[in-house]
Amino acid sequence: MSVPKVFLLEDEPSVCALIKDFAESEGWGFKCLDHCGGSVAAMREFQPDAVLLDVALPDGDGYEVCRQLRKDAALKKVPAIFLTAKGDVQSRLKGFEAGGQDYVSKPFDIRELRARLYAHLALKHEKDVLLREKDALLREKGVFLVRERLQQDMLDMVVHDLRTPLTTIKGTLEWVRTSGLISAGEYETLLKNAEDAAEWAIFMVNDMLDLHCGKLRVERRPLDFRELTQRLESLFHLQAQARRMPISFDWPAADPAVETDSMLVLRILANLLSNAIKFSPQNSPVRLGARRGSGGLRLEVEDRGPGIPDAEKERIFIKHYRLKEGGGQGVPGFGIGLAFCRLAAGALEGRIWVEDAAPMGSRFVLDIPA
Ligand code: ADP
Repeated sequence: MSVPKVFLLEDEPSVCALIKDFAESEGWGFKCLDHCGGSVAAMREFQPDAVLLDVALPDGDGYEVCRQLRKDAALKKVPAIFLTAKGDVQSRLKGFEAGGQDYVSKPFDIRELRARLYAHLALKHEKDVLLREKDALLREKGVFLVRERLQQDMLDMVVHDLRTPLTTIKGTLEWVRTSGLISAGEYETLLKNAEDAAEWAIFMVNDMLDLHCGKLRVERRPLDFRELTQRLESLFHLQAQARRMPISFDWPAADPAVETDSMLVLRILANLLSNAIKFSPQNSPVRLGARRGSGGLRLEVEDRGPGIPDAEKERIFIKHYRLKEGGGQGVPGFGIGLAFCRLAAGALEGRIWVEDAAPMGSRFVLDIPA
């Protein structure tokens, strides 16, 4: 709490001197005025934390000053305590009706006044803190609502405007490449790269749409590791090359006879692999692993990036959640990928989580039943 300031409206010099000494001994700010005229303006300038009001003053009364205080935007929350020789019930009630918080009868013991002032100052301080917190919460909520709105707008744009042209681009590129119209090897590679980029864009759009709906359709067929490797390689070889990151596939020698939705598995691994490349330093390796266990299939994507702090290991799967430090810093994204992975793992009746890799980095693990 900053140093409290007390304003006294009092025309008796002895009372004024007594309270001034006391306020100074407490180390508080203090100001005294002996008439009503201009007192509210003086208080506005002084910004007191509590006001002590004598009732009978030469040019008016403390009740009227108190009423003005309660109408003043800057002063209406400041506690007012009446100091007066009129201790009868009628006078006290009049003080409360005028907007006073307390009453001390003259002659008073300075210890009582001290105790009352401390109680009111503490209350005011608590109220101020609560009001500040409320303001901060409202501001945060406002920002949050604006962000939610932007995300919704973005999603609407994706839904309405992006999926169709992307699918057309990919289809056209594929047709041109396979039609034999363009045969030179280099063009074919360029077309294939463009096609893969369009496919990855379609994946991301679909992730968003699926997350928005919250449901996925599952179509099971035997998982083909050769196909999985080919599609992951073609989706990411350019990014991995640009960052000089070797990707290794540590797959079982024979396909482990697992029936699952291959497209969903591909989309999960694509998200994990994309993150591993995005968030890890250049030249560091990324490993994809798979092994058949008793309950089903375990797939892993491991990198040598900054890793995920323990407290964040669950939160990163929440939609739009991104790490401020480390992983997400400066890397563009919307925090959709891992939320989609969690949804898709659930649709496959499996589980996904992240653990620390040794000696550093993260290992994302996907368990799916056979
Ligand atoms: P996005 O990649 O769009 O940020 P994700 O949902 O895929 O969204 O990831 C959420 C956050 O989790 C990322 O912003 C990043 O902070 C963190 N993260 C995900 N994968 C990794 C990783 N392999 N290494 C470090 N941090 C990661």
